[in-house]
Amino acid sequence: ELATYMLELRQEFPILKRTVHGKPLVYFDNGATVQKPEAVIESMNAYYRELNSNIHRGVHFLSGEATDAYEQAREKVRQFINARSSKEVIFVRGTTEGINLVANTFGRQLAAGDEVIVSMMEHHANIVPWQILRDQLGIVLKVAPVDEDGELDMAALNAMISAKTKLISVTHVSNALGTINPVKQIVDLAHLHEIPVLLDGAQAVPHLKVDVQELDCDFYAFSAHKMYGPTGIGVLYGKEALLESMPVWQGGGDMIDHVSFEKTTYAGLPHKFEAGTPAIAEGIGLGVACDWLMQADLAKVAAWEEILLNYATEQMQQIPGMRILGTAKHKAGVISFVIDGVHAQDIGVLIDQLGVAIRTGHHCAMPVLHHFGVDATARASFALYNTKEEVDIFIAALNRACDMLR
Ligand code: PMP
Repeated sequence: ELATYMLELRQEFPILKRTVHGKPLVYFDNGATVQKPEAVIESMNAYYRELNSNIHRGVHFLSGEATDAYEQAREKVRQFINARSSKEVIFVRGTTEGINLVANTFGRQLAAGDEVIVSMMEHHANIVPWQILRDQLGIVLKVAPVDEDGELDMAALNAMISAKTKLISVTHVSNALGTINPVKQIVDLAHLHEIPVLLDGAQAVPHLKVDVQELDCDFYAFSAHKMYGPTGIGVLYGKEALLESMPVWQGGGDMIDHVSFEKTTYAGLPHKFEAGTPAIAEGIGLGVACDWLMQADLAKVAAWEEILLNYATEQMQQIPGMRILGTAKHKAGVISFVIDGVHAQDIGVLIDQLGVAIRTGHHCAMPVLHHFGVDATARASFALYNTKEEVDIFIAALNRACDMLR
């Protein structure tokens, strides 16, 4: 049965066996980062024990092995998102760097008056890079609104598209609200007008099966650390022709073909966008995380997280004064909430004493919280290893915190 299968997967996460404040850890801060299975941790240890050397340029044996392991990881990522070619998989530091890469290459080709459309529910990583371009190049940043359930207003988005629109950049899944956006519909709409689409997949890849060819998106950015892999690495997927057409960004080793003071030529994809020694162990860890998730089966993961989401939501709604922000029909396992008369921060601190880790604050999405009239929420977010028993502990802790704070 599903719950039993998920419990088996849970056994692979060593950190979940520890206690905090003398209580068993209930880790519900998965939107910030998720825990790592043994296989991922071990792959990185093994790299440093057995393979460590710089890649792509060495003639010696170890460098060859390390290069192969790193490039195999790229192939695993390709499979994981079903890209056509591993040339379309650019290794970056994370979602943030992936979006900044697009802003600093594709975006550099925009002119004053050109328009980029984002949504109101974006993470700051998909707002600020475009504002920097606005200040430097005079582009126009348009913001598609969300409704009171936290769903994107597709009609308004449609109405915003003009002959000047050069990019639509939206999140696949909102980290602040949990909303799963109709990204295929957005891509189809944009493509009617020949506008490319960037999807921020940071919160999507750990929860849903993502197929970039099926979505037909032009760019897709995500972070390894939110999908059971290490910090310090992530991916920018881009369609090959588009990546080919873009200017280079960071310059240095690995991204060149030939260098002289008169003229330098650049490496082909994907290395063109990968200057300097990369995060090698992390890349290998990401490859293992991709394998691990493909084997775990994202359909089962999504089904389980939906059970947890519904189970927790129903119980939370019984708590007096509870307001859940983000009540979209299609939602991932994220519950952002405020409780009348109680500060989000205080809830977080009190339930931490009972072993429950959640996030409080603005979740790097200040504009959408402002839209809902709050500056901070408490947020519980689930991963595949969470259980209904943990939800029960969380609900009991919330009730206790409310009793103490009101
Ligand atoms: N976008 C979304 C939707 C996110 O949830 C996050 C991480 N909170 C990011 C972007 C940024 O990811 P990172 O910090 O790993 O670059």
